[in-house]
Amino acid sequence: MRDRRDELRWNGWGRLDRGFETKGRDAAVWAFVADALGTARLPSTPAPSLEDTTLPACRAGAGLLDALARATDARRVHTSTWERAFHAHGRSYHDLLRLRSGALEHAPDVVVYPTSRDEVLAVLRIAEDARLAVVPFGGGSSVVGGVEARGGPAHAAVLTLDTTEMNRVLEVDGVSRTATIEAGIYGPALEEALAQRGFLLGHHPQSFEHSTLGGWIAARGAGQLSNRYGTADAMLVAARIATPRGLLETRAFPASAAGPNLNQLLCGSEGTMGVITDATVRLHPLPEARRVFAFLFKGFDEGVNAVRALVQEGTGAAMMRLSDTEETRFFGAFRRVIEPSRVHELAEGALGVAGYDPKCVLMVCVEGATDDVAREVARIRAVAKSRGGLYVGEGPGKSWWKRRFEMPYLRDPMLDRGVGVDTLETATEWSNVSRLYEAVRLAIRSTLEAEGRRAVVLAHISHSYHDGASLYFTFLFLRDLAREVEQWRAVKDAASRAIVLHGGTISHHHGVGVDHAPYLDDEKGLLGVDVLAQARKALDPRGNMNPGKLLPPRR
Ligand SMILES: Cc1cc2nc3c(=O)[nH]c(=O)nc-3n(C[C@H](O)[C@H](O)[C@H](O)COP(=O)(O)OP(=O)(O)OC[C@H]3O[C@@H](n4cnc5c(N)ncnc54)[C@H](O)[C@@H]3O)c2cc1C
Repeated sequence: MRDRRDELRWNGWGRLDRGFETKGRDAAVWAFVADALGTARLPSTPAPSLEDTTLPACRAGAGLLDALARATDARRVHTSTWERAFHAHGRSYHDLLRLRSGALEHAPDVVVYPTSRDEVLAVLRIAEDARLAVVPFGGGSSVVGGVEARGGPAHAAVLTLDTTEMNRVLEVDGVSRTATIEAGIYGPALEEALAQRGFLLGHHPQSFEHSTLGGWIAARGAGQLSNRYGTADAMLVAARIATPRGLLETRAFPASAAGPNLNQLLCGSEGTMGVITDATVRLHPLPEARRVFAFLFKGFDEGVNAVRALVQEGTGAAMMRLSDTEETRFFGAFRRVIEPSRVHELAEGALGVAGYDPKCVLMVCVEGATDDVAREVARIRAVAKSRGGLYVGEGPGKSWWKRRFEMPYLRDPMLDRGVGVDTLETATEWSNVSRLYEAVRLAIRSTLEAEGRRAVVLAHISHSYHDGASLYFTFLFLRDLAREVEQWRAVKDAASRAIVLHGGTISHHHGVGVDHAPYLDDEKGLLGVDVLAQARKALDPRGNMNPGKLLPPRR
């Protein structure tokens, strides 16, 4: 089961029949955003239609298309404008700018949907012979340029290999609590199939509805419940990856000591080493109970200390999401524009009197066996209280949970109104969280303010560990319509430089792709990057797999 591609937006987020729900308060919502960005009125900047968008000429000749059809099926080999445009880019802000530009510089020459491991291997053999660049494509939700359809100078054409016809659960081992699943399955279909057997995987990124198991592993992602279920690399037990040199199979031995763990080489390989065709992952019993509740803190540092205590003391939260004061204020006000409520107003007033203005909200989710949940909620409340947290119940948590996959639908309407909105993330040790947080915020804000734009910069802690946490930034600004890509690049560069200079990782869960590749040397060192380059060479000697991604540009 998968979304039909033609039910999705080719140049935006998600399904055509869904959008961001403003409950009839459109005018008020856009007046609020305009006001936040310091302008009286937002411009109208609709996206050109596909008919009004030009693509580079298709370089796939009849001989190549015939060979691909023989290796798969003619119905799964596509050169239509829609398929080429849909697969041209991922879904970052930079990608959307290009998809809305009216002229695509990059697009695959051909899109193929194999249905099995053997078909993938056959397609890779054809690509070797014809010297094609191959871009593995799952949900296409990459936000770092990971699926950008481009080859190198030596490539005759670009083939995008869409994995979503490989979407079966192959085996569930209920005793070992593992399942072997094909890589192209989307999040909802995967969890639905496992739930029928009483299990869940628990990887729920915000892109859950439109991203795939293979993409989660290849980009080394992290879901919203990572405190309980782990990040994608922790879920992986074994994988099969089709490479230009044949199939590489890692085996499912628990805690093998037979040298370095090859699974960890495949995690984060971003399509540069081959196509993950299926993976064996760890399962968990379906939770009997779930509670999502919130605390307020008087400042971000106070909240950070509480999250650190909660994770280091081993409380059983599945998720802890701490918003800074700007994010708390912005989304609180935004929500009240959509759902005005006298009760909320009074509650806000009372919190102000009690000293919680400004404030930071911490959203916590606990799930599992009913008794465990009750016990952990009590522990979490006690630890949070001892760190200055004010328990505000389950109301905010419930409404966040209900809408947790909805926010991405707000980005396209923002782009239709001249608003730029981008996100980035990093992670660092607890002792460095405050410093990095301030440095990245300053870098984003000062770059936009230098060109006379008011920036709304929001941040939260999205994932937390024994030794540190991730920081996730969202920023809104008025686009400079004459130079929107340059404007984006200036902010991205400033933020990336601040991250590497102040001790953050260049990616905590979005991956590296094209956008972060120039910064990989800073993180891994020249020798470290060379180890990765040599591993890639062993699997893909001619450099056909996803060229230009992950490794810094020189290689
Ligand atoms: C609105 C939005 C919210 C997001 N939220 C999160 C979040 O909460 N957490 C998070 O981790 N990420 C998030 N992301 C980023 C993105 O969803 C993740 O990177 C996700 O793991 C990508 O999965 P995908 O199937 O869409 O992969 P794609 O975008 O198709 O591909 C991602 C990378 O993996 C490679 N790849 C894909 N499939 C395979 C395969 N089978 N074998 C080998 N390589 C492959 C591609 O070549 C590419 O380099 C978000 C993105 C968006 C747009």
